[in-house]
Amino acid sequence: MSAPMLQRPIFGGVFGDGRYALATMPAIVNGLHAVSFMVIEPREGSVLSVAEDKVRALASARRLLRLSSPVSAYVEPPWRQGQLFPCTEVSSAATRRKRVSRRRRAIFWRGEGRCFYCRCSLQIDGQWAAEHQIPLALGGDDAPLNLVPSCVRCNSRKRDRTALEFVRDRGDSQ
Ligand SMILES: [Zn+2]
Repeated sequence: MSAPMLQRPIFGGVFGDGRYALATMPAIVNGLHAVSFMVIEPREGSVLSVAEDKVRALASARRLLRLSSPVSAYVEPPWRQGQLFPCTEVSSAATRRKRVSRRRRAIFWRGEGRCFYCRCSLQIDGQWAAEHQIPLALGGDDAPLNLVPSCVRCNSRKRDRTALEFVRDRGDSQ
């Protein structure tokens, strides 16, 4: 492929070992400049899925991987710590499988499976919070743009501050 691609490893879910990457590629859609997303396996040089939106590219790659590998071959990814604080509280629930609502999945994938604040990896069915960047108490709402995935630790530390205040206050205390 000649077009430049930006690659980021994917963590969480069936992409847990970081073997797969999400790549973006400039594209022209209906005469407009846009970006297409693809899930690739850089080591093999293979492309698993291509879509005009990230959620769809991830979803079809995930489906493909689920279908192609027996459940027994799936290995839980190693726990990764956040760059700023470790998120140890979350790991105990990481191995439990439970049903995750569509809305929660959307928030999770939009946040790339990481805590919005400390960037630690989250398990989609683990204990993470759909966090209001602008708290309800300060007039925030449940609109998708106001919701981000957050680890339990950041969620409990943030309390009623806005996302901006939280990040700023955290910077001051270091
Ligand atoms: Zn966090």
